[in-house]
Amino acid sequence: MPRKKSLSPTKITTYLACPVKYRYTYIDPRGKLYLRAKSYYSFGTSLHRVLERFHDSADTGVATTEEAVAALEESWIDAGYESAEDMMDAFGEGKEILVRHIAAEQARPKEGRTLFVEKTYQVDLGPFVLLGRIDRIDEIAEGKWRVVDYKSGRETVSEDEIRNDPAMGIYQLILKRKFPENQISAQIVALKSNDRAEVSLSESELEQLESDILSIGGQILASDWDDVVPKWKPLCDSCDFRPLCSHNPDYIDSIPVSAADPNELSTGN
Ligand code: SF4
Repeated sequence: MPRKKSLSPTKITTYLACPVKYRYTYIDPRGKLYLRAKSYYSFGTSLHRVLERFHDSADTGVATTEEAVAALEESWIDAGYESAEDMMDAFGEGKEILVRHIAAEQARPKEGRTLFVEKTYQVDLGPFVLLGRIDRIDEIAEGKWRVVDYKSGRETVSEDEIRNDPAMGIYQLILKRKFPENQISAQIVALKSNDRAEVSLSESELEQLESDILSIGGQILASDWDDVVPKWKPLCDSCDFRPLCSHNPDYIDSIPVSAADPNELSTGN
């Protein structure tokens, strides 16, 4: 029997941003030839690896700022930076973020305990499996679990941003369906400032989200990828797959005059 298809917050947000981008990221192997390393992914993943060790009670190697800085040196990913100077600037910023974050964590009153770090959970929604990889889950009181998500590029965060963040909703939905007896909330930590906000979706909000995810997932599973037409959108300016779209006449027709690149328009003639 074929394995059931799986969807994740990243797949769903990629599809919502642009179905053609979804095609080249997950379906069409030509897309891999155009993918470029991104410095912001490298930066975020490097910090996540250190924080995973800092918050993992089984890892006794990263408990102080000095150990965190040493761990950052060990796990630093240098792909995607434009120059060695840019990379060194980012490394310096990463160290400062870790030092500030660990100092803030150590100064905060301890709330419960960390249950898991970098944990993947999944739930079967019928037509597909929904899965999510969660940075950290804390048990803040008996039966109360908090999903913690680090954002390495953010200075601030608000409750509205969490409410409108598909990943934060999906993490709560998955955990609530797997552990219905627990109260689940989701918190984003903006690592640059240690600003944080938290939201707990109600059962009716989770039901609405589940219905929306089923509808979007149904569209993804039913898509005929060869027929998906690229249309210009602001995202195109930073998209790795633009060379694949830029020769398509539908794509060229959709470019507004204000965003037109003369070289790109001439390739269609
Ligand atoms: S260039 Fe634009 S239309 Fe093409 S995949 Fe990227 S975002 Fe989508």
